Amino acid sequence: MSDDNDNQRTRKPLGLKRSVDAGEVKQTFSHGRTNKVVVEVKRRRVLGKPGEAAPVAAPPAPEPAPAPEPVAAAPAPKPAPAPAPRPARPAPAGETPQERVKRLQLEAEEERLRLAEEARKREDEERQRAEEEERRRIEENRRAEEAAQQQAAEAVDAPAPEAPVADAPAPVEAVAPAAKPETADAEPAAKPEVVVPAARRFTPVARPEPKRPPAVEAAKPKKKDDKRAAPADEGKDNRRSGKLTVTRALNEDEGRRARSLAALKRAREKERRGQGGPSKPREKQVRDVVVPEAITVSELANRMAEKGADLVKALFNMGMMVTVNQTIDQDTAELLVEEFGHNITRVSASDVDIDTSEDTDPEETLVTRPPVVTIMGHVDHGKTSLLDALRGTDVVKGEAGGITQHIGAYQITTKDKSKITFLDTPGHAAFTEMRMRGANVTDIVILVVAGDDGLMPQTIEAINHTKAAGVPMIVAITKSDKPEFNPQKIRERLLEHEIVVEAMSGDVQDVEVSAKSGAGLDKLIEAIGLQAELLELKARPDRDAEATVIEAQLDKGRGPVATVLVTRGTLKRGDTFVVGTQSGKVRAIVDDKGQQLKEAGPSMPVEVLGLGGVPSAGDNLSVVENEQRAREVAKYRQERATEKRTALAPTNFDTMFNNLASNVIEFPVVVKADVQGSVEAIVNALHNLSTDEIKVRVLNAGVGAITESDVMLAGGSKAPIIGFNVRPNAKARDLVKRDGVRMMYYDVIYHLTDAIAKEMAGELGPERIETVVGRAEVKQVFPAGKRDKAAGLLVLEGAIRKGLFARLTRQDVIVSATKIQSLRRFKDDVDEVRTGLECGVVLEDTNDIKAGDMLEVFSVEERERTL
Ligand code: GDP
Repeated sequence: MSDDNDNQRTRKPLGLKRSVDAGEVKQTFSHGRTNKVVVEVKRRRVLGKPGEAAPVAAPPAPEPAPAPEPVAAAPAPKPAPAPAPRPARPAPAGETPQERVKRLQLEAEEERLRLAEEARKREDEERQRAEEEERRRIEENRRAEEAAQQQAAEAVDAPAPEAPVADAPAPVEAVAPAAKPETADAEPAAKPEVVVPAARRFTPVARPEPKRPPAVEAAKPKKKDDKRAAPADEGKDNRRSGKLTVTRALNEDEGRRARSLAALKRAREKERRGQGGPSKPREKQVRDVVVPEAITVSELANRMAEKGADLVKALFNMGMMVTVNQTIDQDTAELLVEEFGHNITRVSASDVDIDTSEDTDPEETLVTRPPVVTIMGHVDHGKTSLLDALRGTDVVKGEAGGITQHIGAYQITTKDKSKITFLDTPGHAAFTEMRMRGANVTDIVILVVAGDDGLMPQTIEAINHTKAAGVPMIVAITKSDKPEFNPQKIRERLLEHEIVVEAMSGDVQDVEVSAKSGAGLDKLIEAIGLQAELLELKARPDRDAEATVIEAQLDKGRGPVATVLVTRGTLKRGDTFVVGTQSGKVRAIVDDKGQQLKEAGPSMPVEVLGLGGVPSAGDNLSVVENEQRAREVAKYRQERATEKRTALAPTNFDTMFNNLASNVIEFPVVVKADVQGSVEAIVNALHNLSTDEIKVRVLNAGVGAITESDVMLAGGSKAPIIGFNVRPNAKARDLVKRDGVRMMYYDVIYHLTDAIAKEMAGELGPERIETVVGRAEVKQVFPAGKRDKAAGLLVLEGAIRKGLFARLTRQDVIVSATKIQSLRRFKDDVDEVRTGLECGVVLEDTNDIKAGDMLEVFSVEERERTL
């Protein structure tokens, strides 16, 4: 530093003088390019450049040349300047050794700096760009300040870069020679040059000048850059020279400021967050919680963004013992949602499901539709015969050449071209079943009473069902061809049931018919027409179809097939629909004459192909806009069905209390039976046992062996399992034992209902306790005596004893309930055969034995109940 200063000082007087002269000269140069030259900077240049300045100026021929000469001369006496430049030119070659090295070093250094600057510049630009975005919002003011500062910085820095630029034209070589002429001076001059670049590192301010020479070469390309992007130049220039440090300092300041601003911003944000953070949990986020009609606690917790355990706790405090996996109803959910300070949004099934009840068609769109007729009456009173006879009156029958199909319903066209749809499912079971499902498709009931008989139990039942359904009735007194036909007696008997027929001056039509002779059929059809007219049956045909499933089955060749009765709209081939828990697309429509149709209108019974699965009778079929909607609804219904099946008996105190308060006690049961028919019969029979005080609640009813899930379901609700002709499988048996689930096995529905009814009525007779004594597998079957069959057994468990009760099961379904009539081991009659041994048995009253069957032997003990 001190050397530099000394050098500078020694030159100062010269420099000052020169600066005036040279300044002018240079100004012309530099002015041509930029106007940013600052006097101070010039001074500095002058200080550093004396030696170089002269030669630099020399090469350019014009006026400037003389100017530099004096400049060069200034330090040395005038004579020197003139010769100096000239010898200088040849000098380059002569000077090569030292000067060249120095020059090259300078050039290298310069290049290095230039590259470094460019890199820095790029970085700066990138950084600035990124930071600018961040700053933009908050830092408008500051930016303005920065801009001001930057400008100021430019003002200082700009001249420096430009100055070298101005010098640039001077060939570098010229610089070198310049130093030489001054010999004595030149060396020191040259030295400072060499030193200067190094010095740059230390003293930025003084360095601008020394930089020039190196900058010269680099300057050319940079000029353009500078001009193109003035702001960017600032960075470059600043760094290039000692100003570098200044600019850099500025830049760094900027950077620092930017960083600090960004940091400040972050800090503020953090602070804000910090303040908000702890308060967040305190000020709770209120959510709109969507709650369906039933929801599991865990799902509700999810929707509320609360912990499941907290909900369980809250429920416990409300007096409800539930686990997170249990389902709670909407009202309970509402209590919880409110308890946690959220808002409840109740959604009902109609939000997802299709609710057709509220969607009514405007009066003007309605068109008269054929009546749907169901025939009811006591067995053997001639229902089937009448249906067939009526079918025979179809005027279009045979015209189409189709083969009569028994699809559960059919439609006839009467002589006056009107149509009547008959449900081909005689008996009140189907009617009741459908009604129970809310599918009241029947418009008119024909009560069949055999004129040679009288009112029988099922006749009365049919009357009651019809009345309950509020469906008008037509009495058909059949078998009019029979000699013992006595319609009057029937009419009188009907009075007892508040049915006053027209012949008795009432309003119920009565018709005497004979399915055999066909007498009265026309009259009956007429009566139906009249009744239909009174009912003003109408439906809108031009809309998406809705239909009710009459019956459905899985057809081997055609897949799931459903016979549906279109209730409104027109069902078309290709329609997408949802039926019960199934979705589908109408692949084909087949009528009762086996013909393929393109579409089916209101009251038309047709078979529909293209279902995803087999629906249940009474299910509603709705055509929907697209498959996605169909799937969505079907999925929702499936979920609901699963929920219903798995829903446990009430386990909360409130419900139990309410039930007690309203004197309604639920009697939960699980029903398993060998065939679907039995399941339905049992479930219906059990429902019929329900009174106002006690209701049977069937948790699950199904076909097949009693499984683990049945046992778990029953165990969870303390419900007995009613096994009708079925037994638990091995795993379920273990569970039964472990959980102490009560099993009730029956093979006669009457016994079952009797036992349940007694239990429900509190008339608990003696308890029948079965103790399984042993199990054996039937290995082979051989004849015993003239008619009987004997079973060769292998005792697997316990013992087989003569005289004990026994059940023969085939795949867990009871084949027969019997007794061990005789027991033999080899040829000897024995009383008992133990595990691992083989024996032969003859079973009482049964010969239906097959190899592979299982025999369960049990003792029965009757004990007074202690409840
Ligand atoms: P359902 O059990 O009510 O369907 O009665 P069916 O239609 O099976 O008839 C029972 C019995 O009554 C059959 O033997 C029929 O032949 C007979 N039957 C039905 N209708 C008539 C009728 O109008 N006249 C006579 N003589 N017998 C009839």
